[in-house]
Amino acid sequence: MRIIDIRATTVTVPLEAPLRHANGCHWGRFVRTIVEVETDNGLIGLGEMGGGGESAEAVFRAMKAYLVGHDPARLEEMRFLIANPTASLYNNRTQVLAALEFACLDILGQAWGVPVCEILGGRLRDKVPFAAYCFFRYPNPATGEGETRTIDQVVANALSLKQRFGFTSHKLKAGVFHPDYELEVYKALAAALPGDSYRFDPNGVWSTEQAIRFGQAIEGLRNDYLEDPVYGMHGMRRTREMIRVPLATNTVVVNFEQLAANILNTAVDVILLDTTFWGGIRPCVKAAGICETFQIGVAVHSSGELGIQLATMLHLGAVLPNLSFAADAHYHHLTDDIIEGGLMKYEGGAIRVPDGPGLGVKLNRDKLREYSELYKRLGGYPYDQDPGRPGWTPILPNDRWADPKDSRPVRVPC
Ligand SMILES: [Mg+2]
Repeated sequence: MRIIDIRATTVTVPLEAPLRHANGCHWGRFVRTIVEVETDNGLIGLGEMGGGGESAEAVFRAMKAYLVGHDPARLEEMRFLIANPTASLYNNRTQVLAALEFACLDILGQAWGVPVCEILGGRLRDKVPFAAYCFFRYPNPATGEGETRTIDQVVANALSLKQRFGFTSHKLKAGVFHPDYELEVYKALAAALPGDSYRFDPNGVWSTEQAIRFGQAIEGLRNDYLEDPVYGMHGMRRTREMIRVPLATNTVVVNFEQLAANILNTAVDVILLDTTFWGGIRPCVKAAGICETFQIGVAVHSSGELGIQLATMLHLGAVLPNLSFAADAHYHHLTDDIIEGGLMKYEGGAIRVPDGPGLGVKLNRDKLREYSELYKRLGGYPYDQDPGRPGWTPILPNDRWADPKDSRPVRVPC
């Protein structure tokens, strides 16, 4: 089997409302690049990349020079071919490698008639549990609906998500407002959802002292973990020495060098594995094996996904014995998907691992065309800018907080 073509199509799919975060905002939509890898026996494998609001089509076109003629089963060779660790200092292709690995695994599963999770060791579970992903949101500029800024709005949104999707774990994405206000919001969320568990993620924007203050203030709650309260291993280690809440990260342990450093001198309790950040599903399985050996916790990170990327997270979640927490996904914020059958369904807060060969998802070509046209009309968006605060630049540690009393709507293209 040989690769004969690589195609990439950028799409934009609307979200219910713009999602605010510590470094900017998802401006009411996701921009994702959908990758198709075709082989000489007529199979097409699917990959997906994105997250920063920009198209990555050009980089996948450039990969044709490397990969046409390559056997998609030779995945380790592909790693060194396009993302050799020292060459990557110049061309950083880890995320590109990830999308191509997804597509090649999809091809192999189709060729061998098995789901990707069977290639990865076989499923341990048929459904992967997910956490609700609660954001501070601007209102949808077209409808005026969906704002979550006040405590009442955030709590009402979390209760509605629980009712609609069955979540029993809830994540609050924070780092937008002053930490004292966000502490009030988090405590109110916990009080409104007794018996459930919670996690809090300010995207690393606090000082170490602020992280310690907040971590100590939430010790009595049913926390899964406190995620990236501060940016940097040493700040995380200092925080961890002073609080009794597990710390998690998707920012400072995102490769094997950092994982080794964390094991030799532990700063983080739970590693949030991201199939894109780590360069594919297989590196995540490998990292989870190291975490299993050293009894470090594991969960699945979401960097924003449509159905193809979600399928990679499901196959990963299916095979990890040490998946000790519900996975994260932005998925429930989407209004539609580009796969056949539309948005995958949540059942009791979980999503079924696809049973079909490969990743088990197929492109809906009409939807691909529709959302490709939408991308052409709207273009990309700056993930690291806040449409409500033009010219704002967050610093580390940050003190340039948004005002929770500021209810002005934002204008974003839609
Ligand atoms: Mg995070």
